[in-house]
Amino acid sequence: MFARVLVVDDIPANVKLLEARLSAEYFDVLCAQSGAEALEILSSAMVDIVLLDVMMPEMDGFEVCRRIKQNPLTMHIPVVMVTALDQVSDRVAGLQAGADDFLTKPVNDLALISRVKSLVRVKMMTDELRSRANTSEQMGLDSSIYVQRLMHHEGGKILLIDDSRANAERISKQVSGTFDLYLENESQAALRRCDEEEFDCVLINMSMRTFDPLRLCAQIRSVESARIVPILVLVQESDEKRIMRAFDLGVNDYICQPVDRNELVARIKTQVLRKRYTDALRESIQHTMELAIMDGLTQLYNRRYMTTHLNSLLLAAREKEKPLSVLLMDIDFFKSVNDTHGHDAGDEVLQEFSQRMRKNTRGIDLVCRYGGEEFVVIMPDTDHSLAMVVAERIRKKVSEKPFIIHKGRQMIDVTVSIGLASSFKGNETQDELLKKADEALYQAKQDGRNRVVVANIAAA
Ligand code: GH3
Ligand code: MG
Ligand code: MG
Repeated sequence: MFARVLVVDDIPANVKLLEARLSAEYFDVLCAQSGAEALEILSSAMVDIVLLDVMMPEMDGFEVCRRIKQNPLTMHIPVVMVTALDQVSDRVAGLQAGADDFLTKPVNDLALISRVKSLVRVKMMTDELRSRANTSEQMGLDSSIYVQRLMHHEGGKILLIDDSRANAERISKQVSGTFDLYLENESQAALRRCDEEEFDCVLINMSMRTFDPLRLCAQIRSVESARIVPILVLVQESDEKRIMRAFDLGVNDYICQPVDRNELVARIKTQVLRKRYTDALRESIQHTMELAIMDGLTQLYNRRYMTTHLNSLLLAAREKEKPLSVLLMDIDFFKSVNDTHGHDAGDEVLQEFSQRMRKNTRGIDLVCRYGGEEFVVIMPDTDHSLAMVVAERIRKKVSEKPFIIHKGRQMIDVTVSIGLASSFKGNETQDELLKKADEALYQAKQDGRNRVVVANIAAA
């Protein structure tokens, strides 16, 4: 993972120490010896994460953090406050200033590297999301719904897996009001729960005795629906080996017992945000993909998708030596529907027409809007005689029942002409096949419309 870390500390020896450790893990390290210098660097350089000392002359760490979080250009950069071990009140102040995480001095290597990696991962997801949100905005889409989701950790749904009643109660008290906590005290039930419900974070107590918590971590990662749920483990300070194992198994973060409330809340918050980033990102990708391949009016695939997909369907037909048929349809005298009843009525006809086509084709058939009032149905594994039956059925279903327009106030008759072209074994190119279908369609129009014409096909 490549990332640039900004280390801020007024004591050069501290900076040197952190720089050496981070460089050893191949992070790119920038250094600043004062808050002012840090802000200066942030305004000009790309930084993925800031490690910020609290005690500094002139501007202290809290103030620097506040300024980073108030500036729209830097607010998405994670900030880790480096506090003295005994200053619990520093953590509260850090949280209030908007810090994302804490490290205590002297900084433990494992804590340093695992936290930096975890936060950088979150940062990279936000970067990706921010750039997608930008693209969506350029495309005229509303990305605010995604951005809103980013900012919220409230109401996060947390599953605690713990077989100690006393411990579970303590944790429940600590997070109440901030997160919704659910409890499981047995591994099989916990696994089932992870499969059935969606949690924003799973907390696992590594000191459980009734079953192996590390095995449980691995099992959760193998449950399809829980593969990406953030896992935070509660450990004993001395347990470095187990922490390392846990990270190998895909655990995202750890917290030492006895648990400090502020630290617990801050760590869960980071994981909940991370989960929400990924959810929003996935949704945004899905959404963008749908926009790119669907026709907005009819919810059918668009021409671009059809032409891309037809190539692979032809390839598959050739490999399996199976037939493939294409129907090219054009609504008859559609211009007069628009001219007589208005453009909106025309749209209603297109939508109803699309529905009738969808109802009368199979799931594996690809139904697309080719443009205007022209549609294409691609039927894999279908020879021309079977395709003829489908085409006739669609033609009949269109002509036999009038179309409702003006939201139910009027009915009109609609007919369609269809050109059919088939490939025996997928040996034609896409252009050849569509050209044949187009010629057949032209013939159907010539012959008086409301009919199906099959293209001449040379047996191959
Ligand atoms: P033919 O029987 O020869 O196919 O005659 P036609 O009138 O259907 O053919 P023509 O190509 O002359 O007209 C197609 C019309 O379809 C013209 C265009 O305004 C209309 N059209 C294209 N896209 C849309 C759309 O999205 N909505 C509406 N309402 N009309 C559309
Ligand atoms: Mg036309
Ligand atoms: Mg037409």
